[in-house]
Amino acid sequence: MGTKVRFGGAALVAVGILLLLLASTASAGKKKEPKKPPQQAPTSTALIGTSTTSSATTVKGGKSSATGSHSSGAGAPGAVGSTTLVLYDTTGTYGWLGELYAEAAANLASHFGPWQTEPVSSYQAGQIGQYTATIYIGSTYDEPLPASFLNDVYNATRPVIWIYDNVWELTNANPGFQTKYGWMWSQFDTSTVSHVDYKGVELTRDGVHNQGGIMSYSSVDPSKATDLADAVRDADGSTFPWALRSGELTYIGENPFVYTTETDRVHVFEDLLFDALDPAAPTQHRAMVRLEDINPSQDPAELKSVVDYLYSQGIPFGFGVSPVYTDPNGYYTNGTPESSSLSDHGNGIAADIKYMQAHGGTLVMHGYTHQYSNVINPYSAVTGDDFEFYRVTENADHTLNYLGPVPGDSTSWALGRLSASAKVFSRAGIAAAQIFEFPHYAGSAADYQAVAQDFATRWERGMYYGGWLSGSSIDYSHVIGEGFPYVVRDVYGTTVLPENCGPYAPEPFYGFKPHTVADILAAADANQVVRDGIATFYYHPFEGLDALKQVVEGFQQRGLTFVDPSQVAANG
Ligand SMILES: [Zn+2]
Repeated sequence: MGTKVRFGGAALVAVGILLLLLASTASAGKKKEPKKPPQQAPTSTALIGTSTTSSATTVKGGKSSATGSHSSGAGAPGAVGSTTLVLYDTTGTYGWLGELYAEAAANLASHFGPWQTEPVSSYQAGQIGQYTATIYIGSTYDEPLPASFLNDVYNATRPVIWIYDNVWELTNANPGFQTKYGWMWSQFDTSTVSHVDYKGVELTRDGVHNQGGIMSYSSVDPSKATDLADAVRDADGSTFPWALRSGELTYIGENPFVYTTETDRVHVFEDLLFDALDPAAPTQHRAMVRLEDINPSQDPAELKSVVDYLYSQGIPFGFGVSPVYTDPNGYYTNGTPESSSLSDHGNGIAADIKYMQAHGGTLVMHGYTHQYSNVINPYSAVTGDDFEFYRVTENADHTLNYLGPVPGDSTSWALGRLSASAKVFSRAGIAAAQIFEFPHYAGSAADYQAVAQDFATRWERGMYYGGWLSGSSIDYSHVIGEGFPYVVRDVYGTTVLPENCGPYAPEPFYGFKPHTVADILAAADANQVVRDGIATFYYHPFEGLDALKQVVEGFQQRGLTFVDPSQVAANG
């Protein structure tokens, strides 16, 4: 009862202040709010840019039946046990984006402990005090926010991280805001900003496509508010705060989950989470490497030379194997179908796998055939080229269409493929892999659930769909891709080892842009702003030794320590 009276009083005061503001600014609007920036709904490329190195993608979608709600999850291995409440917007034409951003935030929060997500409209008074920290992602301009939420944020004694929209509702509801917190927003700055400076490192930002603006400020009192990172305007190099902290409130003036890349300012957000959830975390910089796309067509001599090099350097590594090679349409053999298996008599790759395991290598199951049926999906239907667990087509300009689950997809279908794959390893005398990696990092929600049943750990970037948290039908046209700087347990419930520096791929592969040693090292440099991040790249043995040596030496010069992926899977 007392609470109700207090809220009523606060609301009346707020209305009074609003009237004063309207009078003094002669604004035509009903309330004080910044002008809406030109673009609040990013394209699909903006959302899944980080999950693939392809130059562009289109998301087509389709729906599957409801899978039940997954609105909470457990912490990753090594988590300190901090708890996070993730609140997201749901209203308006693009309200569905809120759930995707909540998935991205919850995945990161799992690094520190258990998490809970809910629409901000469901917020109950006092919830902020029940978690180590709260993250609110404002993605709908003028989402109606509960008065209890605005009151609890204002009075929070636990860290609150507020992202982007609707901070004006917080300041309008709490007239003492500027006095207490020492800053006041002014408007979304839509200057071209291609860099964000953080801890002396220049991170990139897609200033060309990202038209969402970054909040700017009418006042920042440095005795109360700390400027955490700086947005740098391209035009004249001038800067303004990208994120501010005052008391328990951290405000980030834009959504860091859109238009992300390997060298992106999203790393600032990933690091700021430590301040809220594990402030005592020591800074350490580790690294991992994975040998990629090994299958029965692999040249054993190439493989042995890279393994011997890593072993000579004392570098543990992972290696992804697809145990069956198939070219069902004879794409590379003038129409004569070809296939071979790890367990075929005389196939040398099985012996090489055992050799790798004896020289610091951790086996990763990289699907079963790394292609789908005899269907072009999207390149050749050949192992190593195509998607296995997601339907993808290619356009004439090499851009990709992510259509949705493959025909016949279900959790039991995916479990069948995992089981078939495991049997081939078993017949070749190789113990079951403990880590899984989706071919081309793509699978349906049903496929992720299948992997969660058979494996404790994946090693990749992930795809996260609309409907997963809320328990409504999965909408495959609503998807966000995410790479990780550290170990998480993602919203599918599986531990995910990070991969954030990409491959060495000097030649373009269909629509995949070249990715050089310099690109890998730039990603590692950006990742260094994350205290306790793990810079990770992958490498195809057919690329030879020279580039591998360059990356390894580059990592070592940066003070990165290569660690064993199986140890990271166990301990974080
Ligand atoms: Zn692959």
